[in-house]
Amino acid sequence: MQTKLLINGELVQGEGETLAIIDPATENELGGVAEASIEQVDAAAQAAETAFDTFSRTTPKERATLLLRIADVIEAHSLDLAELESLDVGKPWPSAHDNEMPLTIDTFRFFAGAARTMTGAVAGEYVSAHTSMIRREPVGPVAAITPWNYPLMMAAWKLAAAIAAGCTVVLKPSEITPLSTLKLGELLADVVPKGVLNIVHGRGATIGDRLINAPQMEAIAVTGSPATGMAAMRAASQQIRHVHLELGGKAPVIVFNDADIDAVAEMVRYGSFFNAGQDCAQPCRLFVQDGIYEKLVDAIAAQVSEIRIGTPKAEGTQMGPVVSSAQRDRVAGFVDRARATCDIVAGGSKAEGRGYFYRPTVIANVNHDAEIARNEVFGPVVTISRFSDADEAISVANAGRYGLASSVWTRNIGRGMAVSSRLRYGFTWVNTHGVATPEMPWAAMKGSGTGCDMSIHALDAYTSIRHVMVSHG
Ligand code: NAD
Repeated sequence: MQTKLLINGELVQGEGETLAIIDPATENELGGVAEASIEQVDAAAQAAETAFDTFSRTTPKERATLLLRIADVIEAHSLDLAELESLDVGKPWPSAHDNEMPLTIDTFRFFAGAARTMTGAVAGEYVSAHTSMIRREPVGPVAAITPWNYPLMMAAWKLAAAIAAGCTVVLKPSEITPLSTLKLGELLADVVPKGVLNIVHGRGATIGDRLINAPQMEAIAVTGSPATGMAAMRAASQQIRHVHLELGGKAPVIVFNDADIDAVAEMVRYGSFFNAGQDCAQPCRLFVQDGIYEKLVDAIAAQVSEIRIGTPKAEGTQMGPVVSSAQRDRVAGFVDRARATCDIVAGGSKAEGRGYFYRPTVIANVNHDAEIARNEVFGPVVTISRFSDADEAISVANAGRYGLASSVWTRNIGRGMAVSSRLRYGFTWVNTHGVATPEMPWAAMKGSGTGCDMSIHALDAYTSIRHVMVSHG
């Protein structure tokens, strides 16, 4: 187990408190990782600032070459990295490898290309005898904060775009699941120039807080909960910094009477419970039109009851545990509070034995204003509510505080287009849910954040626009 931090090109042991890393499938301690000390956070921030001077002046071609090398290194070690991810987060094997690694690797390859597409506007004379040009420059050293549900993929989304733009980074993974990110630090220590990538480990309220408030950091990029997003905005307001936030979600899935019922039930089985439902785009809040409501509830309950839970490497495991005891208690709390007013048609309890397992749960007859319909559970739970017409579904969906993923299910493609155009969500799928590709933005609206990860638009968070004017005189 690699437990060292990466600061200014050196792998160093943390000098702070040692935090236990727990295997969520067995509750066994996998080992301990020492947090960074405050001085080490400051040293990492300083290293990123020092390295920025040189790295920000590299050519797009040089950064593209670096990103392609990073992708190759990750690909060459993908089994080791996926093994750590599976162990640390409880992800079923080989899904941790087969489902997540391709997008993680491809993100670096996509941004290698994207690095070479950054252009300013064409130069011109807007004042006579003066030529103006618009330059797009790296924003500065970036504090990147990542969550525990997809530790490596979320690190990839932040790192690849920042490096493509010419920024240096201090990355802090979640204190619950740091193993794959620390391993990445070891693999890249001799690949990435000194100080361009720094990795510190530690809790959010102390180490994370120190990092996002470090004066050297000119941008803060967070994937995490709304509370962390707010902390980032507060920190940014103290120093006037750029903020890029990808926060929680509560994805509405709007199913019309003419939808393919089997396809929806299968999507719920395989999509809603992927990663034990700990997914910001999780299809978790179904709105089903009256005409097919009962039939679809039955089909979903039947599909979900067949999901096999187990430890990551046990034969036939389709869903693992949730990440921690606290997370399981949180999920159980939501379901227990919903019992009085809703119908639990599948699951609804913790699994017996060791490990933080919670049964795949489907809750029907959920009122639009119920706590479980409005708040992010972030676990293996979906709710199903009724609607009568498109206007009702759209207005209830849009009233939600979040604005990340959404989907619409109908065989009438015109209706699919019309409803998509009115949903106030960063992305909407029609007749599918959860398919991601680096070319397309993972975009946030409303309480889900600002800007996007992936796609060339992600570069906006890591670049600033400048005007240079040259007098002909
Ligand atoms: P979290 O906010 O608890 O933690 C995320 C990270 O923020 C961790 O590294 C944590 O240490 C750090 N942090 C916490 N408090 C901080 C502070 N005051 N200052 C600086 N850093 C701080 O989130 P989590 O529980 O790890 O992840 C789950 C959340 O992430 C969910 O809400 C989920 O929807 C969201 N998420 C969003 C996306 C997306 O693309 N929008 C992707 C994955 C996860």
